Amino acid sequence: MSKTLIRGAKVLGGEPQDVLIDGETITQVGAGLSAEGAEVVEAGGKVLLPGLVDLHTHLREPGREDSETVLTGTRAAASGGYTNVFAMANTFPVADTAGVVEQVWRLGQESGYCDVQPIGAVTVGLEGQKLAELGAMHESAAGVTVFSDDGKCVHDAVIMRRALEYVKAFDGVVAQHAQEPRLTEGAQMNEGVVSAELGLGGWPAVAEESVIARDVLLADHVGSRVHICHLSTAGSVEIVRWAKSRGIRVTAEVTPHHLLLTDELVRSYNPVYKVNPPLRTERDVLALREALADGTIDIVATDHAPHPHEDKDCEWAAAAMGMVGLETALSVVQETMVDTGLLDWAGVADRMSFTPARIGRAEGHGRPVSAGEPANLTLVDTAYRGPVDPAGFASRSRNTPYEGRELPGRVTHTWLRGKATLVDGKLT
Ligand SMILES: [Zn+2]
Repeated sequence: MSKTLIRGAKVLGGEPQDVLIDGETITQVGAGLSAEGAEVVEAGGKVLLPGLVDLHTHLREPGREDSETVLTGTRAAASGGYTNVFAMANTFPVADTAGVVEQVWRLGQESGYCDVQPIGAVTVGLEGQKLAELGAMHESAAGVTVFSDDGKCVHDAVIMRRALEYVKAFDGVVAQHAQEPRLTEGAQMNEGVVSAELGLGGWPAVAEESVIARDVLLADHVGSRVHICHLSTAGSVEIVRWAKSRGIRVTAEVTPHHLLLTDELVRSYNPVYKVNPPLRTERDVLALREALADGTIDIVATDHAPHPHEDKDCEWAAAAMGMVGLETALSVVQETMVDTGLLDWAGVADRMSFTPARIGRAEGHGRPVSAGEPANLTLVDTAYRGPVDPAGFASRSRNTPYEGRELPGRVTHTWLRGKATLVDGKLT
C-alpha cells in the first residue's frame, strides 16, 4: 500500500497541518507527522478540501461524444478538484432505463478519475408524458438516487406529484429544471431591459419562480424531497426561503456563472454567454450570493454543459445553450464568495462537497478530512491568480465564458480514494 504525507496544508482553511494517507484512507491528521515510508507533498499553506461533489454535470455519453465523454468529463472533473459527479440524463439514448444508467456508471468506474453517479430521467425520453422506470434505475448497479429531466421541465403537475410520491419510498430526490414552457417559448435571454433593447425573446423570471412555487407546495403535500436546479433569480430565492421556513424539504443549487455574470454580457452577442436559465441581472447575482452564504441555497453545482465549437461559434439565435464549468467552478466561487468575505473555506467545503454528497447520497464523498475517512481530497493554491486558458482544459469542449478573464485559485492536487488523479496541476 502506498503512503502519502501532505505536509503543511490548511485543512478547510484552518491552521496548517499534516495529513497522512495510507492506501485509500486518511490515517492521521496532525502537526509534525512522520514522513517515514511516505511520498511527501509539500502543501506550503495551500488549502485542503474534501473532494468536490457536483450534483449537476452533463457528460454527454452516450450519444454526443463529439462534445464530451465520460472519460474526458471525469478528467475535467479531477482537474477542477472533483471526486464525484452526478451525470445528467439528457443523453442519446436518454438515461431512462436501468440499462443506460448502468452503462454510464460502468464507464465512470473504468475512467478512474472521478466517481460517476448517473441521474435517471423522470419521464420516458424526457418527454414529460409517462414516468420512467424510477424503481428499476434505483435498484440497478448504478443505485440511482437523483432523478431529473434537466434540459426540460417536468411541467405536468400530476407527473411531478407521482414522481415525488415514487421516490419517497427510497428517499430519492427529484431535481427540477424549473422552466414554465409556455412562458419561455422563443426565449433567447433574460427578459428585462437588455432583452428589450436588443429585441431578443425574453425568458422571464416568473417562468422559473412559478414552477418552484408549485413544486415546493407539491413536495410539502406529498412529504417528499425536491431539489431545484440552477436557481437564477432573486424571486426564486424568496420562494425557497419561505418554503424552508415552513419546514418543506427543498434544497437548491446555484451555478458559478449565475454568481458572477449578468445579462449585460449578451450585448456582445457572443453565444458563449447563452445559457439556460439565462444570465440575469446584477440584483439577482447579489441575491444569489447572499442566499448561498446564508444557506437558503444549499450548494454550488456546475451545470457543466460542453458543446462542440460548431454548436457555439455561430449566430446567437442558432447557438446551443450552456457553458463548461468543472475546471473553473472553484475559482469562480473563490472570486465571488471567498474573496468577497461572504464564505470561508469551511463554507466552501460545505456548499461544494458535504451538502451535495448528502443530497445525492454519494457514499464515501463529502466526508470530513479526518482519520478513518476515505482519502478523497483536493489541494488548492488560493494565492494564485491568473487568466483562464481553455487550451489547457481536459474537457473535450472549450465553451467557457471566462477565456482570458483573471480568476483566483488553482487546484494543484486531487486524490480519489488515495490515488492521485492530479499532481502539480497535471492529470496522472
Ligand atoms: Zn437545466
